[in-house]
Amino acid sequence: MTQIRRTSRIIVGILAAVAAMTVGVTVSATGWLAAIALALGMTAYAAMAMNIFLGLRRPIVERLAGPLDQVRGLHRTLGILLTAAIAGHMILIPIASLVDRGINILDNPGPPLMAGILGLLLTVGSIVLAMNRRIPYDRWVKVHGATVIAFLILTLHTVLSSILWGVGDLTVFVTNGVFAAVGVLSVLLMALDRFRGGAAYTVASVTRHARSVEVVLAPAGAKRLRPHRVGQFVLLTAQLDGDTGEETHPFTVTASAGSERLSVLIRDAGDWTHRAQNGLVEGSAVRLRGPFGGFTPQDPQPDRPQVWVAAGSGITPFLSALRTAAPDAEQPVRLVYLARNASDAPALTEVCTRAETLPWLSLRTRFSEQEGRADGAAVVTAAGIDPREADWFLCGPGELVAALRAELLARGAHAGHIHSERYAWRDSAPVRTPEKSAVA
Ligand SMILES: Cc1cc2nc3c(=O)[nH]c(=O)nc-3n(C[C@H](O)[C@H](O)[C@H](O)COP(=O)(O)OP(=O)(O)OC[C@H]3O[C@@H](n4cnc5c(N)ncnc54)[C@H](O)[C@@H]3O)c2cc1C
Repeated sequence: MTQIRRTSRIIVGILAAVAAMTVGVTVSATGWLAAIALALGMTAYAAMAMNIFLGLRRPIVERLAGPLDQVRGLHRTLGILLTAAIAGHMILIPIASLVDRGINILDNPGPPLMAGILGLLLTVGSIVLAMNRRIPYDRWVKVHGATVIAFLILTLHTVLSSILWGVGDLTVFVTNGVFAAVGVLSVLLMALDRFRGGAAYTVASVTRHARSVEVVLAPAGAKRLRPHRVGQFVLLTAQLDGDTGEETHPFTVTASAGSERLSVLIRDAGDWTHRAQNGLVEGSAVRLRGPFGGFTPQDPQPDRPQVWVAAGSGITPFLSALRTAAPDAEQPVRLVYLARNASDAPALTEVCTRAETLPWLSLRTRFSEQEGRADGAAVVTAAGIDPREADWFLCGPGELVAALRAELLARGAHAGHIHSERYAWRDSAPVRTPEKSAVA
């Protein structure tokens, strides 16, 4: 079982235990309807605290929960579920009060109710905005921060409910206290990362390609990142000339595994990456956090051939793998490189040279201008290997990765042998539509 699956099960187990405990200790005093309403509220609060922890971009999250790129999916699902639970709690509580005690709490809403309503509105607003693809990432990130404020307000709501309304007993109070500690500590770490996080690096050199730029980054202070593995990514924070503030974006390290100098290849894919093409120059200061992620081609399974499918900037983890791999590796690898045309395929010359010198590597390029846009079936044909026989590593735009995954599964590949990395944590439209953005 993968670590992220285990984490999901543990979280479900914890939430089920919180719900059962709340019903158990409150039902005799409040009746079933109120007990269920309280259980929904407690469960949502616990889920929110854990979700704020999962939203941290720190190694501890990877150690406890799984690779950060996969944790993002869990974070999103939990966010949606907990919003539904908070809404259920807020709807059921007044009904239960009316049915069980004949009191309409809305007639005289005290501080606990007001705090609860405010917390609910902020959470729902933030989740609805998160699901709106038309809101660009950088603006959405700021709005999404409202969930942290919502958590703090809901913490106030739980404390006031216990004190003023006598909700729950000591067990409920202590359980809430534990989740409050998890959430508040995570909020503090988040704030610390925002203002101080990251190791200082400077741009040591820049190589420009047609629609991408590769920058080499050298440590600028005593603090360095932990050695990275092939396929891992860093969070790069920089303030480009003319910008009023810093922005943070994830980029896969293209340097060989463990090297002290790092490099990233930045494709012009939107607003910031467009400006970074000329905005990052020799001597530019950046901050890095990481490395993160578990998309690591050439990890064990040496007995099985691997197929690496790279679309556009999706070549970056494989560049690191090619720069790291020993010439005498035994594992055969077929690299399928998809791009619009040869000049639009970052680092193609280097990839071709390596394919000529590394005996275990065979390269198949596929350019959409010549062969048409690639779908899942076209990529499998280009790979020329039985999908069931290989380990597949897919990296590129979400739609292509999803289509190829579906095709491989349909052709009998085992899900455990398909590894993928999507180059967006949230499906939002680019701020500036990049010229001819098709990669394949
Ligand atoms: C794990 C990971 C590794 C990546 N590695 C590379 C790489 O090696 N080379 C490369 O060129 N690109 C890489 N990307 C993609 C790169 O991070 C985005 O293209 C970049 O952040 C877009 O920013 P923008 O302002 O130019 O575009 P926008 O116009 O803001 O958005 C374009 C797309 O990028 C997504 N995006 C924007 N900002 C972020 C952000 N801060 N975090 C996550 N997604 C964001 C948006 O949701 C949207 O789908 C990677 C993405 C991820 C998630």
